[in-house]
Amino acid sequence: MAPQREWLEHDFYKDLGVASDASAEEIKKAYRKLARELHPDANPGDKEAEERFKRVSEAHSVLSDADKRKEYDETRAMFAGGQFRGGGNGFPGGFPGGGTRYSTNNGADFNIGDLGDLFGGGGESSGGFGDLFDGLFNRGGSQRASTATRPRRGNDLETETTLSFKDAAVGTTVPLRVTSPAPCTTCHGSGAKPGTSPRVCPTCNGSGLVSRNQGAFGFSEPCQDCQGTGSRIDDPCTDCDGSGVKVRARTINVRIPAGVEDGQRIRLAGQGEAGRRGAPSGDLYVVVHVTADKIFTRSGNDLKVQLPVSFSELVLGATVSVPTLEGSVGVKIPPNTTDGRTLRVRGRGVPKRSGGAGDLLVTVKVEVPSKLDDAATDALKSYAEAEKASGFDPRAGWGR
Ligand SMILES: [Zn+2]
Ligand SMILES: [Zn+2]
Repeated sequence: MAPQREWLEHDFYKDLGVASDASAEEIKKAYRKLARELHPDANPGDKEAEERFKRVSEAHSVLSDADKRKEYDETRAMFAGGQFRGGGNGFPGGFPGGGTRYSTNNGADFNIGDLGDLFGGGGESSGGFGDLFDGLFNRGGSQRASTATRPRRGNDLETETTLSFKDAAVGTTVPLRVTSPAPCTTCHGSGAKPGTSPRVCPTCNGSGLVSRNQGAFGFSEPCQDCQGTGSRIDDPCTDCDGSGVKVRARTINVRIPAGVEDGQRIRLAGQGEAGRRGAPSGDLYVVVHVTADKIFTRSGNDLKVQLPVSFSELVLGATVSVPTLEGSVGVKIPPNTTDGRTLRVRGRGVPKRSGGAGDLLVTVKVEVPSKLDDAATDALKSYAEAEKASGFDPRAGWGR
């Protein structure tokens, strides 16, 4: 591939430390000297030297070849002369970011990184640096397809939905109302009046690009006659003015998979904005919000619940009905269970995408009665005495 981008980013003369009118002999000498100094064998582990060695080698490979050097000089002269834009007012001021700067005739600097904006034109271009150069340097009339010719995919859309804890855990289908450009129903997205169809643009033969010669270079730019689409519509659809899209409200039934988490984005391929004139649609992203639940929390696919129990249930053991996502499960609390202990019920948690489900984690927590009747109070008092007599010391672990 043509190395022109590097040509603009690097001053090869400067890399070699020679004047721009240096003779072939001077270039050769400068290169030999630097190559010796900067050779990786002479500078083990020195990244900067390695980088400079590469630059020097590249500079030499271009400047030592008379044809390449001429081309290089022309390329840079063209950019430095600001001949690209007919406007002549130089380039807009205010250049964000770093990068290589080149002087224009009238002294203003422009940043090579901004070229995408300069040549983009009216938001039609994708503005990429690479696209720009790929498009500019199609030499010898061979037209490669650039983004200008590709049908423009519709924009991605983002919407959101709020699910209950349970719906998010087990999965659900929600109807989403989306208002966005959608294929025009009258022309089915072609943009041409029903009964007619778009024809290949004769100016660019459907490529969407036209060539313009300037000096040694052939420049490709978006075809003005078809706005780079490659096709022309003689009889536009009146409903969409030939765009093939129309803003429409539609309802999409979105299947939310089990186990989705709060804040997760779900991508629905091809459900975004329709592309113009039948180009592919963008994607729709659905951001899921999950409301908190009174009983459950989640940790991945494990479902967590705090189970209120009485002291006697912990000591004597009990089987307690615990709610799950679907129904309930009897959980056996073994005798002498410590408060705060977590019991695991396998396979009763949140469904996994791979099949099966996580576990239900039940953490017991003693609830102290706020009030007891006389009989219970009397029984508890006699229990307290019996407990003491049995030698139980709750603070035995302190060892005091
Ligand atoms: Zn239409
Ligand atoms: Zn055209």
